[in-house]
Amino acid sequence: MVSAEKGNVAGPVLPPPATLGVIGGGQLGRMFVQAAQRMGYRTVVLSPTDDAPGAQAAHATVVAPPDHLPGIRAFVEQADAVTVEFENVSAPALRWAARRRPVRPGWRTVWVSQNRLREKGFLARHGFPLAPWRPVRTRDELTAAAQALGTPFILKTAASGYDGKGQVRVDDARNAEEAWSALGRVACVAEGWVTFASEVSVVAARGADGSAVTYPVGLNRHERHILDSTVMPAPVGPAVSQEAQTLALNVAQALGTVGVLTVEFFLTAEGALLVNELAPRPHNSGHLTIEAAVTSQYEQQVRALCGLPLGSTGLVSPAAMVNLLGDVWARGEPDWKAALGNDPGVKLHLYGKQTPKPGRKMGHLTVLDPDPETALARALAARRALTAR
Ligand code: AMP
Repeated sequence: MVSAEKGNVAGPVLPPPATLGVIGGGQLGRMFVQAAQRMGYRTVVLSPTDDAPGAQAAHATVVAPPDHLPGIRAFVEQADAVTVEFENVSAPALRWAARRRPVRPGWRTVWVSQNRLREKGFLARHGFPLAPWRPVRTRDELTAAAQALGTPFILKTAASGYDGKGQVRVDDARNAEEAWSALGRVACVAEGWVTFASEVSVVAARGADGSAVTYPVGLNRHERHILDSTVMPAPVGPAVSQEAQTLALNVAQALGTVGVLTVEFFLTAEGALLVNELAPRPHNSGHLTIEAAVTSQYEQQVRALCGLPLGSTGLVSPAAMVNLLGDVWARGEPDWKAALGNDPGVKLHLYGKQTPKPGRKMGHLTVLDPDPETALARALAARRALTAR
């Protein structure tokens, strides 16, 4: 655990049973709601459907899209403080809400991190290490980017990309135009291809008083651009681990964010860390903190939102998490009995989604083990058992 600053919590504390509002109805909102309820808070969710994972768990739901003003107004009326579970929330709507209620993270943090051009610009201005990148908003910028970056490079839409959506790898500069067209010729970031040794992330939390903490570094493996597994602590050695945590704290401080902030990194073979992207919220790579840490990332989000002191990020045990995508249901109901019965240490989380689709995050498994790689092997074995019949 790294602490940036210590001190008394600034501003009034919002005590239970106040009502905490979360914008977004997904699994991150659901786990926030569950943490808030354990601490005695009431919860309200702004969700496009009343059966979304977060809506199923909350005390109340306002059914509306996140940029629907009457919906936001009704939601804010029911909430004593507001947070978000995803970054594609209208910044003007958050500003409107912030005039009425504490909103954490603030609109500026959300606005920066919901657009790759703004995010890269912000990180570059503050001197954070990045892969080489160029803005692509015009044909001339595309040509200039291809020249500057060489091939391969990767084109990513500036807005609304996640889990590898809105990304195209360009292997030959002559195909750059075609790749950009495939993305709809919208504003993009072009990024030099990074031959990384691994991908790691740090979940940080920052309070209203500027106090900040980080969890140990997580080692992330992706399949088809979607997170597949996380191991914590990452076996990256103390120097890289310290640097990643310091960078995450510095990003949180530079943004002045209050709440949870996740920083994803590429780690090169030479041991250099490059910031890949930011998430102004709990993160898939931090799910395992529910069982593995003294304070989960969701409880930290509650604490930061309510002006309570942040909790210890110490690990109870090293751990691993594997995602359960809709693919696991491809041949019918997964064999839960086998997966849980073979290893009683396996913890199952399902998000209550009705329809499994390939690539859709339906749930995850967490395993604690003194050896993090053994934790991963056990989690993977449990996942295989789900479909072994
Ligand atoms: P992102 O949505 O930017 O996190 O990208 C999703 C995944 O694509 C990353 O986790 C990497 O596995 C891969 N990726 C993204 N950008 C690059 C890059 N510049 N070089 C190599 N791989 C990348």
